[in-house]
Amino acid sequence: MEKLNSLKNILNIILKDIKKQDFLVYFRKISIVAITPQKVTFGAVSSFMKENLEAKFFNIIKNATLEEFPEILDIEFIVDKNIENPSNHDVIDCTTYFKEFSKKPKKTNQSNTQTTYKSDTISTYEEKSQVNERYTLDNFIVWPSNQLPFSACEAVVRNPGKSYNPLYIYGEVGLGKTHLLQGTGNAILKKYKDKTVRYMTADKFITEYVNAVKKKWVERLRQKYAEVDVIIIDDVQFLQKKEQTQNEMYNIFNILYDAQKQIIISGDKPPKDLTELEPRLRSRFEWGIIVDISKPDFETRLAILQEKARGKQFLLPQDVAEFIAANVTDSVRELEGILNQLIAEYELDHSTPTLEKIARKLKKLSITSDLLGEVKIQKRTTTIRSYEDIIKAVSDHFGIEKEWILWENRRKEFMIPRQVAMYLLKTKLHYTYERIGNIFSGRNHAAVLYSCNKLEDILKKDKNLLYEINILRDWIWI
Ligand code: ADP
Ligand code: MG
Repeated sequence: MEKLNSLKNILNIILKDIKKQDFLVYFRKISIVAITPQKVTFGAVSSFMKENLEAKFFNIIKNATLEEFPEILDIEFIVDKNIENPSNHDVIDCTTYFKEFSKKPKKTNQSNTQTTYKSDTISTYEEKSQVNERYTLDNFIVWPSNQLPFSACEAVVRNPGKSYNPLYIYGEVGLGKTHLLQGTGNAILKKYKDKTVRYMTADKFITEYVNAVKKKWVERLRQKYAEVDVIIIDDVQFLQKKEQTQNEMYNIFNILYDAQKQIIISGDKPPKDLTELEPRLRSRFEWGIIVDISKPDFETRLAILQEKARGKQFLLPQDVAEFIAANVTDSVRELEGILNQLIAEYELDHSTPTLEKIARKLKKLSITSDLLGEVKIQKRTTTIRSYEDIIKAVSDHFGIEKEWILWENRRKEFMIPRQVAMYLLKTKLHYTYERIGNIFSGRNHAAVLYSCNKLEDILKKDKNLLYEINILRDWIWI
């Protein structure tokens, strides 16, 4: 029971710091296996989950644990074979726990109350408007060929229903139409607390309409739309060939337009090319302003990648970014997809993207252009077997004698290489602090722990060093 209560307290702290999705996916089920004066041992369901927790959340969990047990020196994770056993009461199923956590605000803990409040507001906000908060105008990257649609959206936010009505945006898939539309919806909701926004895809509109016809409440549906201030209809090309629905869209359009409500529409083509759309609806779409988004050029693609990588705090080597930007030319969605894959791989095994890897990946996806030729993939030969290999790799990398790394010496230029070596031994070879201490001229456990923590702090701030260490790690193939 004591373990369970502590685990709950620790999870409550963690929940303040991480995304709900991460909590549900990565924590899944967690237990406290043991608490000693020095250490708290957490149990995970599998070695895969254990490694993920260690790789992604070690510091967060450790800091939370330190709030509950200020005296301990370390935490560790093991696979808890007993975790599925119903009689084990020191386990928390994170899905159930999250539900409870969001339901009842804890009076004693201010921040918990705030988290609950926040998730509640998000769900009702999203439910009503169907606008996803992820897309904003602030995180929309502007490039020459989307400048005009972006400015039109800004104008609409300044003056909904008055400046450009309807606003029609078209372009090929993956170029940011949905992002821009939803970003505009979000900006309006933020700016005008009393305005209602309704975002929907044309598909959703069709389904709603067909349902309303079946249930004989078309009038009610019309009423519902008449009440919104801003209506956003995404991908209107899907209305083609749906005559009945087009008819209804025409009616609703007129009601909203006459009431000076803002209408924002997107399609994959300009209205005149949507030949399967009724002419009178097409002509309504042409009443306001029509703007298009076209593909970004190389420079822009590079800027998008770097901006997105920065947003996700991921260091993308310049040569890799250039290679992707040169080859992935069709859409922002594709660029983002590749970047997300690289980040996922990095999070799983801390492997840094290299030119060889990305070339191989793009080739597999058949998007490598032949113009750039084949990138030579070199076979690596180095494999780490013992701590000596790590010390040697670090000393080669930093260009200093290994004795300087191992011996007690307070000169600053040896400190970082020494900390890096210790850190790699701990995180990659999973040596204990004691064992590392023995290698480094008999330092004690606490000194090694301090060095590793210190380096982690530095790495959080010094992205160049982090990048350098990732290269080193990649190079020594661990
Ligand atoms: P579309 O609706 O045109 O098919 P999306 O809006 O779904 O394209 O964009 C695809 C992905 O690319 C989304 O994740 C979106 O956030 C991103 N994206 C597209 N354009 C931009 C941009 N200008 N700035 C930032 N992200 C963008
Ligand atoms: Mg879209």
